[in-house]
Amino acid sequence: MPIRLLSPHTINRIAAGEVIERPAAAVKELVENALDAGARRIEVILVSGGIARIEVIDDGSGIPQGELSLAIERHATSKLADETLVRIATLGFRGEALPSIGAAAKLTLISRPKGQESAYKISVAGGDVIPVAPASAPLGTRAIVEDLFYATPARRKFLRKPAAEADAAERAVWRLALAAPHVAFRLVSDERVMFDVAAQDVPSRVAALFGRETAGAMLPLEAERDGVRLKGLAGPASLSRATMALQSFVVNGRPVIDPLLRMGLRLAYRDVIAVGRHPVAALWLEVPPEALDVNVHPAKTELRFADGNGVRSLLIGAIGRLLERPVSLAGAPPINAPRPPLTLSYAMPRPNAVARGFAETELSLLAPPQVRQFEPAIPEADHPLGAPVAQILDTYVLAVAADGSLVIVDQHAAHERLTEERLRAEFQAGRVASQPLLLPVVVDLTPIEAARLLGQADILQSLGLEIEAFGPGAVLVRAVPAALKEPDAAALLRDLAEEFAESETPVALEAKLDAALARLACHRSIRAGRRLAPAEMAALLREMEATPRAGTCSHGRPTFLKLTRAELETMFGRRGI
Ligand code: ADP
Ligand code: MG
Repeated sequence: MPIRLLSPHTINRIAAGEVIERPAAAVKELVENALDAGARRIEVILVSGGIARIEVIDDGSGIPQGELSLAIERHATSKLADETLVRIATLGFRGEALPSIGAAAKLTLISRPKGQESAYKISVAGGDVIPVAPASAPLGTRAIVEDLFYATPARRKFLRKPAAEADAAERAVWRLALAAPHVAFRLVSDERVMFDVAAQDVPSRVAALFGRETAGAMLPLEAERDGVRLKGLAGPASLSRATMALQSFVVNGRPVIDPLLRMGLRLAYRDVIAVGRHPVAALWLEVPPEALDVNVHPAKTELRFADGNGVRSLLIGAIGRLLERPVSLAGAPPINAPRPPLTLSYAMPRPNAVARGFAETELSLLAPPQVRQFEPAIPEADHPLGAPVAQILDTYVLAVAADGSLVIVDQHAAHERLTEERLRAEFQAGRVASQPLLLPVVVDLTPIEAARLLGQADILQSLGLEIEAFGPGAVLVRAVPAALKEPDAAALLRDLAEEFAESETPVALEAKLDAALARLACHRSIRAGRRLAPAEMAALLREMEATPRAGTCSHGRPTFLKLTRAELETMFGRRGI
């Protein structure tokens, strides 16, 4: 085939795929346009996660009748006064979003700027323009996108389930609403009001979108360095979450998902947050425009800082100071509270004892001397994990088996697995015991999390967790799985909400259930750092022996280590390798 130039029509469709790869991207572009137009109030309506319909209504400057047809043309923008691409103060500037959406979908713009007698509208479907015609509408602009993949059906199959697309689109609006607290936002998704917030100051916006309780425990921070200003709120370590969902970064008014900033935040909390947990933060950065290149990524969510290291150390320094603050300011559990003295309790070998004979004495190092007596443990041959002889650091159970193997059990990991397996067995038998709460608990969440959990209420019910709606952003818990004893309902629900968030890759329902079970189990498990009685230790070992998959915790880490006699002998050079 000879080389030929593509028609503008085809070029537009190809480019559309790059800018509008999924509904969330279209939603983001349209809301950014509304913000660039100086809107004081923005309403977003999504149907089927935006795949079927996206509507963005603003009260901004509007598009004059004479410019409507230009607005949907490629590389047409009112926003780049000079073309050096250095000082970009608006969210948009490429003039690509509307033509891209118009090439792929059915797009209608209805707009009325101040001073114009009536509104006018223009439509474009799959690149074919329906000329400008009068319409009736209040001041501002209404953009309607129907059937996002109308002209590019092949792309449709790359879409995730509507729930996943809805989640991504809702988060995009959530991030933009955080970026512009001075603008009122209302988000409706499949007829459910996700949030409806007035123009407000930063702390109120964070409270509305992070949940009042979470926001209430966050601490303000402020720092400056080389013209870069950092402001916002960040959580104490005790507020950690299962995902990065409650991290918002806004740079020069633009919400970003930037690896450098995420990494900086992770580093700042490295020593105080457990592996796999994530801090909560809402941060605003003001960077001189010439120290920033937003042109890196078509969706403009990644940045290039002229001085990335400087920005990172600004962030790490500010969070570090915040984490050092005295507890009274924190309003949350202490992070740096003095730790209880380290105790190492162990059983002294009885004189002349062989591996299985242990005395009743327990010594305590570093701590005030205390002696606990317990019966010497006799390992039985059919107990491969042996009999407990000591607890180390109140975290590990040391046991000795009849064949002389040394067993070290991580009590938290082991118990977590046992609880999970018990819940799973109950679930598979269709009879998860549910424990009604005497006093139902109201849990304050973000509006998106609350809606997401309520959308999964049936599944949760089958897991023994009964919830119902309780006003915007709150959920009422009526019953919890009985196996969990007395879980912290708020912490449990927050973690579950994140588990039910649609991840980047589609996750089967079973996998979600598995994750939810693991999450539930984690909330029941005995903590590392709890002193166990010898009988409790023995019970733990026996249950592990009787439970499938007890060798690893639900995160895949081992629950116990075993050193056989042969391994010990090899280590001590008593036998060749
Ligand atoms: P960009 O935002 O990069 O300029 P777009 O394709 O998103 O490109 O929009 C093209 C132009 O249409 C904008 O520059 C702006 O002049 C106009 N426009 C789009 N949406 C709105 C809106 N909601 N209110 C006012 N003007 C708008
Ligand atoms: Mg734009």
